[in-house]
Amino acid sequence: MRDRPYRQTEEGKGHNPKKSLGQNFLIDPNIARWMVDYAQIGEQDVILEIGPGKGMLTREILNSPCSFLHIIEIDRTLAPFIEPLLKRHEARTSLIWGDVLTVNLRDLSPSPTKVLANIPYNITTPLIWQILEHLAPVGTKELVLMLQLDLAERLCAKPGTRDRSPLGITIERMGQAQIVKKVPPSVFWPAPRVESVIVQILLDNNYDLASKRSWRRLLKVAFARRRKTLTNNLACVYDFFKDKDQALKLLEELGLSPTVRAEELNADDWQRLYERILSL
Ligand code: SAM
Repeated sequence: MRDRPYRQTEEGKGHNPKKSLGQNFLIDPNIARWMVDYAQIGEQDVILEIGPGKGMLTREILNSPCSFLHIIEIDRTLAPFIEPLLKRHEARTSLIWGDVLTVNLRDLSPSPTKVLANIPYNITTPLIWQILEHLAPVGTKELVLMLQLDLAERLCAKPGTRDRSPLGITIERMGQAQIVKKVPPSVFWPAPRVESVIVQILLDNNYDLASKRSWRRLLKVAFARRRKTLTNNLACVYDFFKDKDQALKLLEELGLSPTVRAEELNADDWQRLYERILSL
């Protein structure tokens, strides 16, 4: 049997959306259902939902056969929407009120196998880093996320394209990301100004790169000044190389052009460069 019909929580009834918390609530249950169907949730799955809001996606997750659902929401004024939903599911749900960015996701028990979320757009980048860092090592394999289109394009960008980014490269090394559905602003209330898409991120490699400070620093430095060559970006940071000549020699050794820019390297190049720098 399905839970309460969605219309009772529709369009701002009893709650003024907070822009500062990225509160654009889904008002079309078909989108929430689509996300849950896409994630192919099975009886073994433990789900983490971040930012349940008024519970549109939560309700659909609870209708799936998942064995457990963790929920993290910062805005306690949403309690009248979320708590009644969980009443009939107390044995298989856990609700944390707080800022997800300060929660140690590694400690969630049981460990999430999948993350589903309509993510607050203002914290998307640090949140995905955190998910990779905390949850990949405990066995999380799949994220199905509603994201802002331009950020999603950065996550999925291929080598040689303008949208290439440190987070996208890290995801490519740890698995893969793809845009699986476009979503119009009209399915949210209030409607966001930006386009949204649903992105699937699969974490199917064993590389735990997101928690490696040196990996993140290498990418950060390499992309710090996008118009400069990789050598120039890396050579100006004294703890990577003694001088520019050493940087050039190492790039040559790896078969990379001395004028290559960070956005042109593929994920394998980054891995080789990272390992070679570590061995210096
Ligand atoms: N999942 C709901 C839906 O699809 O209708 C709401 C999505 S809304 C885009 C984002 C939700 O994330 C809001 O409920 C907001 O309060 C919550 N949120 C924002 N910042 C947060 C944070 N730092 N930690 C936890 N939740 C947060």
